[in-house]
Amino acid sequence: MKITEKRTVDVITKYLCDVCDTVFEVPEGYNSTENLGQLNAHWGYGSTQDGSRYHLDLCEKCYRLLKTIVEAALCLLTKKLCPMITLD
Ligand SMILES: [Zn+2]
Repeated sequence: MKITEKRTVDVITKYLCDVCDTVFEVPEGYNSTENLGQLNAHWGYGSTQDGSRYHLDLCEKCYRLLKTIVEAALCLLTKKLCPMITLD
């Protein structure tokens, strides 16, 4: 048998992009983590940044920009040809 009761819970209704300060809404009925980019880093014992935590909430525009920057950096670091970068 299930016993139910009505409860009031806090739900996330908006996010603020940590890069550009754009406020974006979470449509009612949607999961609050949909349409949201996140960057997380948790450094633990053995790393040079032991205990450091980083978290960014990103709008779609900033996520795409960050993704492009990371992809470009990976191309340069791995010295692989990347279609968007010309290596001289
Ligand atoms: Zn943004």
